[in-house]
Amino acid sequence: MLIKRYFPVVSLLVALVLPNALAQKTPIEITADLTDAPRKLYHAEIDLPVKPGPLTLITPEWIPGTHMPIGPAQEITGVVFTADGKTIPWRRDDVNLYEFHLTVPDGATHLHAHLDCIVLRRISQKLAVLEWEKLLLYPADTPVRDIPIEPSVKVPAGWGIGTALTPVGSGAYPVPASGSTTRFEATNVEQLEDSPIITGQYFHEYPLAPTITPKHYLDVVADDPEDANMRPSVLAEVANLVREADALYRCHHYHVYHFLLTLSDVAGGEGLEHGQSSDNGVGEKGFADDNHQLPEADLLSHEFTHSWNGKYRRPEGLYQPDFATPQHGELLWVYEGMTEYLGNVLAARSGLKSQSQYRDILAMTAADLDYTPGHDWRSTQDTAISASLLRGGNPAWSNWKRGQDYYFEGELLWLDADTLIRKLSNNKKSLDDFERIFLGKGGNTGPLIVPYKFDELVEDLNQVVPYDWAAFLRDRVNKINPQVDLAGIEQGGYKLVFNDKPNPSERTMAAAGGRRRGGLDCWYSIGLRINSEGNIADVLWNGPADKAKLAPGEKIIAVDGQIFSNEALRDAIRKAKGSSEPIHLIVQADSFVHTADIDYHDGERYPALERVEGTPDYLDDITKPLTTPEKVPETKKDTD
Ligand SMILES: [Zn+2]
Repeated sequence: MLIKRYFPVVSLLVALVLPNALAQKTPIEITADLTDAPRKLYHAEIDLPVKPGPLTLITPEWIPGTHMPIGPAQEITGVVFTADGKTIPWRRDDVNLYEFHLTVPDGATHLHAHLDCIVLRRISQKLAVLEWEKLLLYPADTPVRDIPIEPSVKVPAGWGIGTALTPVGSGAYPVPASGSTTRFEATNVEQLEDSPIITGQYFHEYPLAPTITPKHYLDVVADDPEDANMRPSVLAEVANLVREADALYRCHHYHVYHFLLTLSDVAGGEGLEHGQSSDNGVGEKGFADDNHQLPEADLLSHEFTHSWNGKYRRPEGLYQPDFATPQHGELLWVYEGMTEYLGNVLAARSGLKSQSQYRDILAMTAADLDYTPGHDWRSTQDTAISASLLRGGNPAWSNWKRGQDYYFEGELLWLDADTLIRKLSNNKKSLDDFERIFLGKGGNTGPLIVPYKFDELVEDLNQVVPYDWAAFLRDRVNKINPQVDLAGIEQGGYKLVFNDKPNPSERTMAAAGGRRRGGLDCWYSIGLRINSEGNIADVLWNGPADKAKLAPGEKIIAVDGQIFSNEALRDAIRKAKGSSEPIHLIVQADSFVHTADIDYHDGERYPALERVEGTPDYLDDITKPLTTPEKVPETKKDTD
C-alpha cells in the first residue's frame, strides 16, 4: 500500500510536472570556469531571470550522499551582483548563512552574479573535479527540481572532460573540449547538482560492455599519464561489473552512466554517488596492480549500486525539496548498509576481487564490529540518525563511541537476510529477488527519486519469502545488541575465527600501504590501534591496553627494553604467550613519560573465516558471477 501511495506521486511530479516547468520558465545560465584549477580556484558567471523587488538566493548546504550539512559556503568568495550594469548591494541572512538577500531594481529582468570558490579537495595541477554545489546560486523559495538551468564549463586548454551531462550539438561522448566554453543541454538544479564533471590533462574515456544499453563509460584523469592508461584486466572487470549489475537489477535509472575516476595522491580519496555517474578518487597507483587494487576493489561497485539504492530509491527522510532542509538519516542502514553489501558482492561477482578476498575482508569487517564495545550502549539505528555527527570523527575512543556503523552493520544485516532467504527457500530465492522488486519498481527510467518508508522493505521482503521481516529488521537495527550479527556468516557456511597470522588479504593490504599505515594490527590481541611510529590512535575499551591505562594520543617509545618498532612489539606479544610476565612499555603522554605493563598472554590474533564442512556454502553461491565473465587479459592473482 505504501508503495502505491508514494511511487506514483513522485514519478508524476518529476516526470510530468518538471518538463512543463522547464518549458515555461527561462533557465538560469551558469558558466563554470575551471581554467584557474591549478591555483585551486573556480569561478562562476551566473545569469538569473528575475523580477523587480526583494529576492533571496541560496547556495546548497545539505549535500546529497554526504549525509551532512557541508555545503561550501565558507569557501565561496568574491560575490558580486549586477543588473543592467549596476552593482546591487546584498546582505547575508542572519540565521541561514547560505542565503543572500538583495532587491532587484525596477525594470531589471536579469541579474548577473559572479562568485569564486576556493577549492581545497579533489584538485591538483593536472586534474580537477567539479561538484556543482561549489558554484550554484539559485532562488531560495523554489524546489530545486523546478528550477531550470543551462550549464557550461571552461577548462584549461587541452584538458579532457568526463561527465554524464549531455553536450549540446552531437550529444555524443567523449565531450568535445577545446579550451573554449563547452555547453550542455538544459537540466534542473537538482539534476545539475547530481552531475559532476572531471577534467584533466591526462584523460581517457573507455566505453564499457557495448552489448548493454544504455551506454556506460569509465572516464579517468590522473596526475601521471601512465596511470590514466588503465590495465586491460581492470577494464574487463569494470565491464563485468556493468554486466553483473544489469543481471542483478534487470533495470536501470539513467540515460547514460559514467564512472568518473581520479588517480592522484594530491586530489585525495573520494566516493560520492550520483544517479548517472559517480565521483571516485583513489591514489595515483590505486589500480596500478592487484595489490593496490584490493583496498579499492568495491569503490566503483558501491557507488554504481547507489544509482539504484540511494539515488532512485531513497529513504523519505533523506529526500528534501531543496538542499537547505536537514536530512534524516534513520534509514541509512538501507541506503548505505545495503549498498555496502551489494557493492562487495558485485565486486566479487565481477572479479574486481576474488571470492576468497571477499571472505577475508568480510572477516575483517565482522571482527572489527565484534570488537566495538560501543554496542553496549548505542543501537545501529542511532549511528544512522547521528550520521552527521559521526562522519570523519576523531579515532580516539571511537570503538566506545561507535562510528558510522550503519554501513558495516548494515552489510552484515543484509548478508543475514540473504542467507536466511536462501535457507528458507532451499536456495531457490535470494536477496537478488528482493532487489529486483524493491529497486526495479517502474522498470527502466531516467534519473528519478522515488522515496520509501520502512514498511515497504517489509512488504517487498515478504513477496520473496514470508517471514516476520519487521521484527527481523527492528531487532537488529533498533535494539541495543551487545553482540555483532554473525548469523549471515554462519548461515553462509563459515565461522569467524582468529589465527596467529593475518589472512592473505590483510597481508596484501598491509603491503600496499593499507588501512593501518604500516602499523601492526594488534587490536584483537592487546587492543591497540597504532601506526608504525608507535602513535596510539585508539585503545580497545576494556581490552588489555585499556586495563594498563594506555590512552589514544600517547606514543609507545620502548617495548620490553627495546626502542619501539613493529617487530619489537610483535616479538613482545609472541614472547608473552604462555608466560606470566606482562609486556613492559615506556610511553610518552603529551610532554611526560610513564611506564605501563600489559598483562596479555594469548599471542597474536588476526581474523579469518573458516569453512564449516557439511553446511551449505551460501557465501560462495552469493559471490558467483551471474553472467559469463569477460575474458580478463592478465592473470588475476588470488591471495589464496
Ligand atoms: Zn555509499
